[in-house]
Amino acid sequence: MQTTNAHKEGMKLTSSWNIWDLLSKGVFMVGVFVLATAARGEWFLVATYLGKDFLRDVMPTFDVTVSSTSHLRPLSMGTWFKDLPIYVAFAVLTSFCTFWGIGMSFDFYFYKNRKDKPEQWKCQPDRWLTKSNEWHEFLLGSTNMLIGSVASGFISCYIMNGGKCTLYTRPDEYGWAYLLLSAPALFFYNEAVSYYPHRMFHTPFLYRHVHKVHHRYGSPTLYSTTAMHTLEFLVYQTLLALPVFVVPLHAVVFVPILLYGYYYGMMDHSGIKMDAVWPWQPSSMFHDDHHRHFHCNFGFNTILFDRFHGTLRRTNRKYGETVFGGKGKTEFLKNNQSEFITYSTSSIVPFK
Ligand SMILES: [Zn+2]
Ligand SMILES: [Zn+2]
Repeated sequence: MQTTNAHKEGMKLTSSWNIWDLLSKGVFMVGVFVLATAARGEWFLVATYLGKDFLRDVMPTFDVTVSSTSHLRPLSMGTWFKDLPIYVAFAVLTSFCTFWGIGMSFDFYFYKNRKDKPEQWKCQPDRWLTKSNEWHEFLLGSTNMLIGSVASGFISCYIMNGGKCTLYTRPDEYGWAYLLLSAPALFFYNEAVSYYPHRMFHTPFLYRHVHKVHHRYGSPTLYSTTAMHTLEFLVYQTLLALPVFVVPLHAVVFVPILLYGYYYGMMDHSGIKMDAVWPWQPSSMFHDDHHRHFHCNFGFNTILFDRFHGTLRRTNRKYGETVFGGKGKTEFLKNNQSEFITYSTSSIVPFK
């Protein structure tokens, strides 16, 4: 089992916690975090979610009266999208500057500067994207980011002009119990609307016509995160944004959980061996293995859904692009033994 051994090798990496390592890791995490949000074109939208009341005061062009709560007011379409070009331009500009700027820095730090030591940091040390696939993911990811930015410019404009948004800002508005329970509920919602559509995209028809584009990248990089069929990108983004128009959620619950998903989405595609401090979050090997073995490991922020449905990758199973269903083939089964891979997050540190 070459794959399993390589996986275990990754797990055996020891960490050296000196100041430089901590600093490097800190810079890396902040960078990925900013990049992850930029890649969806959503920095400006996030600012709107968190500080819409404040922004409404400081935006010079905003001149309609807005209530402190975010509920629907009877405004015309023209009023809701007042000054739209400014919002869209802001959203597009912030996304492109951060996505390209930080993306290129990481690309240089790992993929160019440390290309000769891939066993120290790379999930698949012996596998690299071809030049044409590098360009493909860069252009496709940038295209989706542009679409995401324009969409977030529209949504920001709509919310700032008093459009319906169910985010609230006073913690006691729906009670503390509601606020505290809404956090895990939203986390599970986000994971469910990632796992099930993703698994659906792995059925033969949708895989061949839609999702296969994303699986060109057998050894993904940061730019692979949003490099997918635009239809698929829009499905995920719509489902993730939906709660703020339907269910009352505190901004401090919604925004961090959304950004958490974006951050780990980026981390999982980085191709860099990274652990997570949260016990429920699998290591970056989990989704890297999805790209390597295709029809397994459909989740993102926990292995629970895969474990529950039996689609978590197992030892002694054969996986591949033509092996659909999520459970692999059992032809290599020996002594009836087949164990789930754990994707422990311990001791995977790319900074040595
Ligand atoms: Zn997939
Ligand atoms: Zn992926």
